[in-house]
Amino acid sequence: MTEKLVIGLDIGGGSTKLGLVSPGGTIVARRRLTYAKAATGDKILSDYASAIDDLMRGQKVERLAGIGIGYPGHILPDHISGDDSNVLALDGMPIAEILKRRFQCPVGLMNDADAGAIAEYRFGAGRGVDRLLMVTVGTGIGLAFLADGVPTNTANGCLGDAGHVIVVRDNPVRCRKGCLGCLESVASGQAIERHARRLRSDHKATSATAALVRDALGGNASALGIIAEAGNWIGMAAASWCNIFAPTTLLIGGGISAAGAVLVDAILLETKRRGMPSNVENVRFGIAELGNDAGIIGAAAQMF
Ligand SMILES: [Zn+2]
Repeated sequence: MTEKLVIGLDIGGGSTKLGLVSPGGTIVARRRLTYAKAATGDKILSDYASAIDDLMRGQKVERLAGIGIGYPGHILPDHISGDDSNVLALDGMPIAEILKRRFQCPVGLMNDADAGAIAEYRFGAGRGVDRLLMVTVGTGIGLAFLADGVPTNTANGCLGDAGHVIVVRDNPVRCRKGCLGCLESVASGQAIERHARRLRSDHKATSATAALVRDALGGNASALGIIAEAGNWIGMAAASWCNIFAPTTLLIGGGISAAGAVLVDAILLETKRRGMPSNVENVRFGIAELGNDAGIIGAAAQMF
């Protein structure tokens, strides 16, 4: 195979997705890895390397054009390691350096919310948007802002911890990062799954969010209610984000975005109800197009 292929590695709290990606943004082959809670960083990285070997063998790729990593947390100033993520075993490990030595190719490391937004800007629903704000609701809530395709990073190699804006005054529970009353504590994938499991009394479901979205799309009133409520919370935060960034387009990604209109409408209504009219009136709201592939494609795209 002569085309220059790049590995996109989308590290997540529950699983890691990786794929061989063409410069046109197509995933040629992919793998999904889960890891035990107790897995060490060395074990996780050696699993990544084996999966990359597998993908290369399967597609008869002798040499990679690069490896791009999307990291679910802060990026340290050395640009080879991350911190404060939801995969604790990898925090502080020089993962970009280790993979570079192993595969003898350039390796890039960026925040996963930035990567998802870049994928949408180049190949998805944010194509060519001048001021693109993207919210990704996964295990946590990631935010990225791109001006003409370039991520704005305010602190820690990302847009700070913008998913942790404070939206609730009287919430006694601290989030996993320790703040009180933040958006993540009421509308992240984890918070939504808590509601969803209570609703279904189904503790065995591997993805309560996926089941919830299915129920909502089937018209189940309770499921619709949970999604609309998450949308209201996100909309409250989005009103502040719009006042800061004045986006022209706001995209919603992550597992729950499969709910479509019920989620977007709830976010849009709350944002427009609360935000400064001149900052929110003309914003286009939409669902990310690349779905769960955005992380892989965006991580790879930093190397094209
Ligand atoms: Zn928080």
